[in-house]
Amino acid sequence: MTSSDRTDSNYKFNELPLVFKKEMVSAHFIDPSGNPVKRPIEIRTNPITWRTCRITFSRNAEQERETDRLPLPPPDAADTAQCPFCFPQIRHKTPQLSSELDSHGRTVVGKSILFPNLFPYGSYSAISLFDNNHFVEIGTASCKSYNDSFVNCCNYLQQVAEHDPRSFYVAITQNHLPSAGGSLIHPHLQVHADRIASNHHRFLKNRAMRYFEASGRFRYLFSDYLSHEKKDGTRYIGATGDWEWMAAFAPEGFYELWGILPGITSLRQLTPLLCEDLARGILNTQRFYRSIFRNGYNLGVLCIENGATPLELRIVILARSNYAPWVRNDHTGYEVMLGDMATFTAPEETAAAARPFWL
Ligand SMILES: [Zn+2]
Repeated sequence: MTSSDRTDSNYKFNELPLVFKKEMVSAHFIDPSGNPVKRPIEIRTNPITWRTCRITFSRNAEQERETDRLPLPPPDAADTAQCPFCFPQIRHKTPQLSSELDSHGRTVVGKSILFPNLFPYGSYSAISLFDNNHFVEIGTASCKSYNDSFVNCCNYLQQVAEHDPRSFYVAITQNHLPSAGGSLIHPHLQVHADRIASNHHRFLKNRAMRYFEASGRFRYLFSDYLSHEKKDGTRYIGATGDWEWMAAFAPEGFYELWGILPGITSLRQLTPLLCEDLARGILNTQRFYRSIFRNGYNLGVLCIENGATPLELRIVILARSNYAPWVRNDHTGYEVMLGDMATFTAPEETAAAARPFWL
């Protein structure tokens, strides 16, 4: 937020500004050759969550193991016979929706098939396949396969809302490859709905509501974040339809990108066209990750479907450690024990590297 933005706001709104804070510290030591060196580290505060992260620039010069080329496919990339998500075994190895949700057991949109998660994480926990392709190299999926899978998820969430409207904490996520937590390499989305909020749902619900109330009920958190980033320009990447894409100011993952859909607060408001625009942005992101030889990623979009929470849709996508032998995990003692994510690349460089994929 700029100072001019604040002048027309009331005092209460000034208590909750969007601050894009950067601080620089440096470490001084004698290098192994005997020369004094100074290594800068930037600490940024996430304007939405106020969590700090670190950008350890000196590690950027290091070649991460297995990132000089795209890793080989996983050993079971061709083993469709053992995969419960491949035809024909999908028919007898995947569960079916209970009759109060859908009378057909599984829902189909194009080649996407949706069915309950055999190992649920909440009251409503489903899997939405893209198609029958068992292993899909990052960046090579069809836009239609993502579009259909998202439409399938949104239709499922509509069914859940009609059946159990109190389960309004919803999310769509993806773990691409085991390094990102994926248990099966066959690409799929997870879709969740529950009455009990996750930590991020709980925080974002309060944050978005307090921001909205403090502004006199006319300013939205992610719209204002987006306005700042478009005006600043250094992290803004481009648009796919109404979805606007940028590198996260204070990333909590490597090469973290956000797609914001301003003014839309419900996944049930996603039209097929908005799903297609979302799919195009995801595929652009995948092609960017492929260009820097990353093969694993997570994505997630969270929503509070109670009709009262001014939290707009935002998808977060971040690269994970490559899925290849003996690659180190990207969460070290620093992330797990201190709670600060440490990445190596300035978000402005990430945006510059990603922009060609939005042209
Ligand atoms: Zn499969």
